[in-house]
This record gives sequence, C-alpha cells and structure tokens, in this order.
Amino acid sequence: MSKPQQVTVLGATGSIGLSTLDVIARHPDRYQVFALSGFSRLTELLALCVRHAPVFAVVPHAAAAVDLQANLREAGLATEVLVGEEGLCQVAAAPEVDTVMAAIVGAAGLRPTLAAVEAGKKILLANKEALVMSGALFMQAVHRSGAVLLPIDSEHNAIFQCLPGDFSRGLGNVGVRRILLTASGGPFRETPLAELANVSPEQACAHPNWSMGRKISVDSASMMNKGLELIEACWLFDARPSQVEVVVHPQSVIHSLVDYVDGSVLAQLGNPDMRTPIAHALSWPQRIDSGVAPLDLFAIARLDFQAPDEQRFPCLRLARQAAEAGNSAPAMLNAANEIAVEAFLERRIRYPEIPSIIEEVLNLEPVVAVEGLDAVFAADAKARQLAGQWLSRHGR
Ligand code: NDP
Ligand code: MG
Repeated sequence: MSKPQQVTVLGATGSIGLSTLDVIARHPDRYQVFALSGFSRLTELLALCVRHAPVFAVVPHAAAAVDLQANLREAGLATEVLVGEEGLCQVAAAPEVDTVMAAIVGAAGLRPTLAAVEAGKKILLANKEALVMSGALFMQAVHRSGAVLLPIDSEHNAIFQCLPGDFSRGLGNVGVRRILLTASGGPFRETPLAELANVSPEQACAHPNWSMGRKISVDSASMMNKGLELIEACWLFDARPSQVEVVVHPQSVIHSLVDYVDGSVLAQLGNPDMRTPIAHALSWPQRIDSGVAPLDLFAIARLDFQAPDEQRFPCLRLARQAAEAGNSAPAMLNAANEIAVEAFLERRIRYPEIPSIIEEVLNLEPVVAVEGLDAVFAADAKARQLAGQWLSRHGR
C-alpha cells in the first residue's frame, strides 16, 4: 500500500469541509489531514484538530491563533497555528501536500485556491466563486503548473463523470452537443411571485434537497447558484454559454447530463449528498466508499423536468449575460451578489432586491479586460463599492 495522501482542507468548518473530513475518516489508510482552516467557528475547528491531528491549523487573526494554540497544547497536540490569507496560501502550497480541498466560500477563497493551483496540487474545487471571478487566469495557471483540477460541485462532478477522459481536446472533438445542467429550483420554485417580497433568510436557507452553507443556500433559492455554475461549467469544460442548458429537476437525483451528437445522453445519478462527489474526486480515478446510501429508484418513483422561469429567477438571466460578456463581468456579478446576499441574510434588504442590486452594478460599470489578478480584485472591489452605494442610497 502506498503512503497516505496528505490533504489540506480549506474551509474545514463548513458544510463541504465537514463532509470531506467524514469521507477522509473512513479511509485512514489512504488520506491524512495535513491542514485545516476555519474562520468564525473556531470551537469547531479545535474539535476537528483534536479528531484529525493536522500539522497546521489556520485562523483569521492573531488573537484567535493565540487562543487556539493554547487549547491545542492543552489537548496534547503538536498542531501549529498559522494566520490569515498568508497562512492559507502556505498550507495550500506546502511541498508535503498532495491534495487541496478548496471549500472556503466566496471571493476569500481565490488566493489560497490559486496558490494550490500554482503549486501544481490536485485541487478539489468546491469554491466556485474563485473560478467565476478569475476563470481565464485560473485555467491558464492550471495548464501552466500541471495541477489536476477536479470539480466538487455535484453538477460539474456529474458532467466530468459523463464526459470522456480526453474532453480537454474540445467538446466538439469528442462528440458533445450540449451540457445539461440540472437545478432543483430551490425552496421558491412554486412560491407565488407576489409572496417573494416577504420571504425570510430562514425560508431561503431551507433547501428542499441539500444541506449547505447559508450563502450557497440563498444562491440556490435565487438560482444565482445555477448562474455561477453555468460560468463554472464554461471554464471547466471549455464550453460556450450557449452550449450549457439549465434544466429544472426538482428531485435532485440526476446531478447533470451530457448530450452527444449521436443522440446519446449520459447522466450521473445519486442521492443528494456531497460525500459522493467528494469521494469521487478524492480517489479519482479509483472509487471508494463515501458513506452515502445506495439510490433507491423505487422510493423516488419519478423524475420531473421543467424549463427555468427567468421572471421568477432574474439572477439566472444576469449570470448568463455576465457569462456572455466575459472579462470583468463575472467578477462583478459575483461580488455584487456576495454583498446582496449578505445584506439579505442580515435582513437589510428584501429577497427580490438581490437581483436589483446586481443588475444596477452590472449596468453602471463597463466590462473591461482582466489581464491579471489585480484587475480581477479591482473589478471585485468596484462592484462591492457600487453595491454598497445602492444599500446606502436606500438607507440599508
Ligand atoms: P459554509 O458557509 O458551510 O463554509 C464556508 C467555509 O469557509 C467555512 O469553513 C468558513 O469558516 C470559511 N470561511 C468563510 N468566510 C471566510 C473567509 N473570509 N476567509 C476564510 N475562510 C472563510 O459553505 P459551504 O461549505 O456550503 O460552501 C463552501 C464552498 O463550496 C462555496 O463556494 C460553495 O459555493 C461551494 N459548494 C458547496 C456545496 C454544498 O453542498 N455545501 C455544493 C457545491 C459547492 P467558518 O465556518 O469557521 O466561519
Ligand atoms: Mg451545485
């Protein structure tokens, strides 16, 4: 048996981080935790360190580091605590590391994820915002460094499984006509449009099929998540936005499909549990047990499909426009969305104001080329500033 792979889990205290550690704990002969990071849930981070005994733990600031370091010593652990973005980049790129789970939420994950890419690691990409913001630069860095990029997002992991191994030759060259990206439709798929003005963060976060962090749950309710995933799919599989069709499939059993020119359509199915794509990517090209129960098709009984309703889900239209505009547009879309979702979760705006803010930001600022990471962060900062102006103008 070969040596266990050393794994860094960025965003260990989150939903994807915990699912990753659950899979890892099932296979101690194959995987060892090298580093874990947390941000606000630091008691949970301590418990994870006690359980997995990493070499490093990363926290956001020095005061938290002093606390955690003392607690770790008391627990008899040799884990060393690092701080901030620099610490995250260090554990993402450390020479001992084989695999990095990129599961920080939002733009905060971009630099650490890129550090793993530049160091040529095997990257399990959950942090879709990083790819949405910096797609061209990110993919160039993957090709330059020889990093292995494996999608964790269930849809993209499904597409990856349904594509042939040589899909990087170009979708047209491997006979692919379209990618069919499935979407559950979220908790508001059938809510009367007039009631959407009064929905609460709790309702938005109560996803019918998946248990996830709060930001992605709101994105799923608004279908901005599907919009970000459309952009993510274009970068991962070198597809044009017009080659990616969104299909609403309320049961979340088919995780996505690939339509070939001969009329064959391949789909990947499974219970909606992120441990399946995580186990797939961790062990790829092999297969390991993930702890997910076998799919019971008789209990599911039927699968439904609908076209997405862009009146109900304006975020999907905005994301498709940003995908087509390219350049700085996806980074602006993402940043404006992060500000709007945070304001909604803090009850400063109503749910239908999320797309209003994003649309205003995208309309105010011309799309510009992004030549380097500085330009990506400039677009991100500009969108945050414009979204902030919307909030202050409306007294929020
Ligand atoms: P969570 O909110 O549950 O977890 C986010 C993680 O990031 C936590 O560990 C959190 O730390 C950490 N974090 C938050 N803000 C910062 C910051 N500014 N700097 C450093 N770390 C930070 O989110 P999810 O696990 O649900 O999602 C993670 C990513 O995976 C997202 O990009 C999401 O889109 C993607 N994804 C998630 C899926 C899911 O099923 N959950 C499915 C597909 C993709 P702490 O908790 O300690 O504050
Ligand atoms: Mg997804």
